[in-house]
Amino acid sequence: MNCPFCGYRDSKVIDSRDINDGIRRRRQCLSCGSRFTTYERLQPTGLFVIKKDQRREEFSKEKLLAGIRKACEKRPLPIGIVDKLTDEIEAELYHQGKAEIPSAVIGDMVMERFKKLDYIAYIRFASVYREFTDITALKQEIDTLVSDETKASRSTSQLPLLPAEELGTIAKRLQRSRK
Ligand SMILES: [Zn+2]
Repeated sequence: MNCPFCGYRDSKVIDSRDINDGIRRRRQCLSCGSRFTTYERLQPTGLFVIKKDQRREEFSKEKLLAGIRKACEKRPLPIGIVDKLTDEIEAELYHQGKAEIPSAVIGDMVMERFKKLDYIAYIRFASVYREFTDITALKQEIDTLVSDETKASRSTSQLPLLPAEELGTIAKRLQRSRK
């Protein structure tokens, strides 16, 4: 917080006290010596996510970003796509104006975008988010994807289909997580 009098960027706290919903700090500018007051409050997002087990958790953009980033790891996707997707989904969530949103709805929003963008990111995200219990369920999901793709005219923006090696990695991870 810059000094409101001279604009200097550093000040020292000369008094600090808890108020109802935050902290009030009395500061003194290290340059001109003027005193001013700042208030620190927690900014609630006002948006809660209803998890599968019905617990509520405050929406976390960081969590969403981490999930999307993981799915996109080492994929030849445009630079900035992870942030772009996260921002888009966040904006859409707030735009809905609801206080609570099921985690499944957010997951579907991510998958909808990955489906148009990159199958591998889609499958990776799905394998975590849908918690495929076995390789059969995962295989079904992939088959659905592939047949959808065959039915529709092949989109030029779509990246190459799932290579066997990626499928193998996901299968191994599923087997590990079942033990
Ligand atoms: Zn100052």
